[in-house]
Amino acid sequence: MTDYVTALQEAIRFMRKHDRFLIVTHVNPDGDTTSAALACALLLEDLGKSYCIVNEGETPEKFSFLPRFSSIKDLSKDIFTETFSHVIAVDAADYKRMGDVPRLFADDVNILNIDHHPTNDLFGQINVVRADAAATVEIMFELLKAGEFTLNEQLAACIYTGLLTDTGGFRYANTSPNVLKIASELLGYGIKPGELAERCLEEITLAHILLLRRALQTLKITHRKLTASLQVTRDDMREAGASGEDTSGLVNYCRNIEGVEIGVFFHETGENQIKVSFRSRASADVAQIAKELGGGGHARAAGCTIVGSLAEAEAIVFEKISEALGVQADE
Ligand code: AMP
Ligand code: MN
Ligand code: MN
Repeated sequence: MTDYVTALQEAIRFMRKHDRFLIVTHVNPDGDTTSAALACALLLEDLGKSYCIVNEGETPEKFSFLPRFSSIKDLSKDIFTETFSHVIAVDAADYKRMGDVPRLFADDVNILNIDHHPTNDLFGQINVVRADAAATVEIMFELLKAGEFTLNEQLAACIYTGLLTDTGGFRYANTSPNVLKIASELLGYGIKPGELAERCLEEITLAHILLLRRALQTLKITHRKLTASLQVTRDDMREAGASGEDTSGLVNYCRNIEGVEIGVFFHETGENQIKVSFRSRASADVAQIAKELGGGGHARAAGCTIVGSLAEAEAIVFEKISEALGVQADE
């Protein structure tokens, strides 16, 4: 058996053997981590186990149609009276991606780490990590099959949503034959692909558009037109009435410009705290750039957080991009 298949079996044993699980999604949760957590919750229910799903902050309302969405807790708002010895982290590339949630971990904690990031540092006691999976839900699907769980419409909705969002609607290079095979099987359970795509990918908030209008004023084309970047300040966020999830997708406008190899989005999330999102078109490994700056991700989509002002973050990032592309920012 391969290490991955062995890890899947260990994960199933872990879920069967224990109870009172803490399921953790990564900070600034997206469709994949949210769907993977909810799929995990449904599997635990199937085993008659109890669980608590938590994120360090809010989970985007756009995923509220998913089963058990309302049971996801917000560490910054909800009150917790217990600690957990059995943790399942989904789509978290490293320990830091769980944010403040580890304060709910008991001293004797055991972590099952289910993820698909090549930069995953295997922080769990059990690590089900497959970097060539398009999404963490693809691994959840394999876990479901390996554990001989029964697939149903609710599980199908979760798994399909994670595939849909992490492949950008089955368009990115991670759209493998396996992804489409799984999606095809899921469609047999009554889920509605048009409705799911509309909710997850097409519909945008007014705040997103107002923010885009502001962000576009900051557009910079650098590195011989190989890099495009946008910035958003806390004032922009306030004036657009935007929350974190309204920034989702802004980075794609940069990467999508003809001829651009790297798109970068700088988001001032706090005083001297800049969240940076990277996207690349074909050759630049932005996971490597993000990793060198304390973050991580995938070759084509990655991120990190930099301590400093927007101008300082830009200088640091542009320098790293110069090294990666072999081109100066002002060329
Ligand atoms: P984002 O730009 O936030 O949409 O993230 C793009 C990709 O990079 C996703 O796969 C994230 O999980 C990953 N990512 C973003 N920020 C970080 C970080 N600080 N550390 C590790 N991975 C990250
Ligand atoms: Mn994710
Ligand atoms: Mn993912």
